[in-house]
Amino acid sequence: MGADLPIIGISGNVSVEKNGRFPGYRSVFAYEDYVTAIEDVNGAALILPVTTNSAVIERHAAHIDGLLLTGGSDINPLFYQEEPLEKLQQLSSERDRFEMALVRAVINAGKPVFGICRGIHILNVAYGGTLYQDLTYYPNVSVKHKQQSGPYEVSHTVHVQQGSYLYDVLGEKVWTNSFHHQAVKEVAAEFVVSATSDDGVIEAIEMRDKSFVLGVQWHPERMVNHHGNMRKLFADFVECAKES
Ligand code: MN
Repeated sequence: MGADLPIIGISGNVSVEKNGRFPGYRSVFAYEDYVTAIEDVNGAALILPVTTNSAVIERHAAHIDGLLLTGGSDINPLFYQEEPLEKLQQLSSERDRFEMALVRAVINAGKPVFGICRGIHILNVAYGGTLYQDLTYYPNVSVKHKQQSGPYEVSHTVHVQQGSYLYDVLGEKVWTNSFHHQAVKEVAAEFVVSATSDDGVIEAIEMRDKSFVLGVQWHPERMVNHHGNMRKLFADFVECAKES
């Protein structure tokens, strides 16, 4: 029965124990709502631990049917050739290297990728794009992008480009949640912008000529139980993984 469920790799995060019995101990994890969002649309979620072993990364890329890139800390600006600015936050260069190698291998293999929050940044930087290290460095920012309300509450609107995949699912305007302090600056040549907020901040990108390589700045996995169209993004992603 379950043999036909596509395997969706979920990029893992690292946490370092601060208190408890073993301060400094590291664990790998992913928030559970990524897992349930995939399982709810008939995908088999598999959390992939951060590694810089290229043979392991290649094996993961060959094994999975699709890749979900999850949220997390800032990307080291050295990967887009910028000096670190004052408002840059916590980095995890090891995870940056892991995810960029993994995403390139998965895309080269023709498999779908869904990048969420930090995931849209990884997609962009892996293909030569750049980021605003903090939204205060974007001169036209006027919308609050770090909401104080709960995870599934929506906070600002997003305008979707006609002709994009996202437009088919979400229509021209959609309310999203927003939990970011960085954003895409220069878009990598392989991608097109498919959504922006009122102030012009890039909220989604799609890879040209690929059936499903999508990055979104908001957190659809926190919205799936309240907003059917966000669930549809996961359903399409898993469907595409099944066909890949
Ligand atoms: Mn936003």
